[in-house]
Amino acid sequence: MRIKVLGAAAGGGFPQWNCGCPNCRDIRSGVLAAKPLTQECVAVSADGERWFLLNASPEIRSQIENCPALHPREPRHSPIAAILLTNGDLDHCLGLLSLRESHPLVIYATERVHRGFTEGNVLYRTLQRFPGQVTWRTLAADEETELSGLDGQASGLTVEAIAAPGKPPVHLEGNAPPDPGENIGVVIHERRTGKRLAYFSAAAAVTPAMRATFERADCVFFDGTFWAGDELISLGLGDKRAEEMAHLPVGGEGGSLQAFAGVRVPKKIYIHINNTNPLLRPRSAERRQVEAGGWEIAYDGMEVNL
Ligand SMILES: [Zn+2]
Ligand SMILES: [Zn+2]
Repeated sequence: MRIKVLGAAAGGGFPQWNCGCPNCRDIRSGVLAAKPLTQECVAVSADGERWFLLNASPEIRSQIENCPALHPREPRHSPIAAILLTNGDLDHCLGLLSLRESHPLVIYATERVHRGFTEGNVLYRTLQRFPGQVTWRTLAADEETELSGLDGQASGLTVEAIAAPGKPPVHLEGNAPPDPGENIGVVIHERRTGKRLAYFSAAAAVTPAMRATFERADCVFFDGTFWAGDELISLGLGDKRAEEMAHLPVGGEGGSLQAFAGVRVPKKIYIHINNTNPLLRPRSAERRQVEAGGWEIAYDGMEVNL
């Protein structure tokens, strides 16, 4: 299984247009020797021919251009067989509207995420220019289904959705009662090799089911949005704790670093990193701590082969 990280940042990217936090300030000035990050999107393939995108970030156009494997091979063509959405946050699905150039799309999502994106959304009409422009396929929890593009041809990969504690996207808050389909992680399983990728880019907690999933995985991508629960508050950038935004912090008592202690996974990668996170500073104590725990930090252009 080939995995390409097209974007590793949380919503807003790194640097974020309206942010002058120490990380954003220092990367702009060159004090921080780090590379900018676009918003989270990952491409997965078994054969290198047909690719499946995990989430569709607002930067999807440049992300596709920066990844030759995703370039068209005919006058009208895309190697992107389908797109999977793990929740309805705009940094995960706004990119769908940028794929409006009259190309048939296959989108896998939970019923809740599908409805949240399409209902009452006048902009969605740009993806309804002709019948069959979008084919939605439902991701139901704990069901393993074959991943395929529009032609239905087997891709060698299956997907299983695992509910992950989360919340509705900000623009839909208060619209509907809570639903476990609001936020999911996915397990992508390659039949030929038996390899499993567990992808949980947003999670407010590690449930026993998630833990069991990680134990079986060859590679885990996990929510690395915030280092600390009070990260935005202590920087004077907001009044919400990480937990209120449905992101389990990495560090501290009960953080994901601790939650993963004792979980045996060959490869562990933090992704969906917020621009305020000290993990973005290569020489920070926090970075050393996660690396000592066997973690890597995702970056744009990172490739993993399982
Ligand atoms: Zn996000
Ligand atoms: Zn910032």
